[in-house]
Amino acid sequence: MNALGRHILVEFYDCSPELMNDVVHIENSMVAAAETAGATVINSTFHHFSPYGVSGVVVIQESHLAIHTWPEYGYAAVDLFTCGDSVDPWVSYTYLKEAFEAGHGSSMELRRGQLNLLKRNDFNLEALRDVSAKPDAELGTITRDVWFTERDENIALSLKHSGNQLYKKDSPFQRVEVFETLAYGNMLTLDGMVMCTQKDEYVYHEMITHVPMFSHTKAKRALVIGGGDGGTVRELLRHEQLDEVTLVEIDELVIEACKLHLPETAVAFDNPRLNLLVEDGIKYIHDCEDGRYDLIIIDSADPVGPGEGLFTAEFYQEVHRCLTPDGVMITQSESPRFNSAVFVEIYETYKRIFGDTKVHCYLAGIPTYPTGTWSFSYCSKGDSHPLLYDKAAAAKFSEAQGLKYYNEDIHAAAFALPNFVKELLADGSKNSIKAYSAESTNEQ
Ligand code: SAM
Repeated sequence: MNALGRHILVEFYDCSPELMNDVVHIENSMVAAAETAGATVINSTFHHFSPYGVSGVVVIQESHLAIHTWPEYGYAAVDLFTCGDSVDPWVSYTYLKEAFEAGHGSSMELRRGQLNLLKRNDFNLEALRDVSAKPDAELGTITRDVWFTERDENIALSLKHSGNQLYKKDSPFQRVEVFETLAYGNMLTLDGMVMCTQKDEYVYHEMITHVPMFSHTKAKRALVIGGGDGGTVRELLRHEQLDEVTLVEIDELVIEACKLHLPETAVAFDNPRLNLLVEDGIKYIHDCEDGRYDLIIIDSADPVGPGEGLFTAEFYQEVHRCLTPDGVMITQSESPRFNSAVFVEIYETYKRIFGDTKVHCYLAGIPTYPTGTWSFSYCSKGDSHPLLYDKAAAAKFSEAQGLKYYNEDIHAAAFALPNFVKELLADGSKNSIKAYSAESTNEQ
């Protein structure tokens, strides 16, 4: 070759906008395109932009492949740069055109570093050689720098993952995905929102179950709406006093994904005391007989998509009807810090249905949830009160079960609310929401 390198400038048009925004697919395709062309990949770094678009580079021993995408135009700008003649960059071009489902592509090849224009400097190569350079043997193992990002208006959580998508399917309700994160283990997301991770799921699942179970000790029948990851029923079924636990999950793919990739969370799905139903919880509650359950836990995702109807006054009114006279409803009630407006609104609804003095809020720290501060509501139909609990029994149980978060002290501490939360719950005014909400909401 009469040049040091070959640089192909590529324009891919009419690509699938979906694929142009899929950082995992793009990273995997770029790495595969390099390897298919015979290149030796050193590492890859890919980033997902807000609200969409991906940029990334694959460093190869023979130089690099780089990309930036505009999903909104179905367009990708790609650079294929190889030096030496052991790698044919056109092989990568053809591979990527197919991988991105490009309607058409245009390209231009430049010869970079025309030898007749270059003058070689004789210098002591050894002196320049990077002694820390890895021996060839290790070159095979590439370091991949691929990030999952859950992004809201002003806040984002990014978790580095292996780049291998463990699970990705679209159900009639939502996109169900599992990522292999490096810091938090396998992570379940629904429509791009973190639901649970192997490393911190126990916080949520222990607090949404053991707080009511130790303050409502006569509970025999429990119902869980949502909770398809299995963590909530796993914790409930630790309590031998429960004769029957019913789980109503709308999306069977969530159950499938967790059985495959979050087995510790999905461990109780075959428990004989579990009645597992795949149906809409809103319909189930509507058809349910009065006063059937001692405990109803709403383990829903956020108030969007299939879960929206689980945050309405009509639904909570129905839940109230299905509780025994001394029954308790527990909900995941979002974050007082993340979207304070939603938080205030749902507590006002609980109070209208259960009564001002029968609604209690408690908090827990969940690192992979927006702002890390999450809340649960404890709503009593009868006289059950969350702080009237058997402390000794809670201590013994926490130890015997090897719990990782819940214990007899955190039970009470969780109800000790910081002033800003008390203020939000007390007056819920626009001013306090504006003062404390991390996410601006238009209605503020
Ligand atoms: N801990 C998670 C959180 O706070 O975001 C929620 C976990 S759980 C995975 C939420 C489950 O509720 C999902 O599996 C979702 O499919 C289910 N779900 C949403 N809407 C539902 C409905 N109407 N009936 C039953 N399950 C529903």
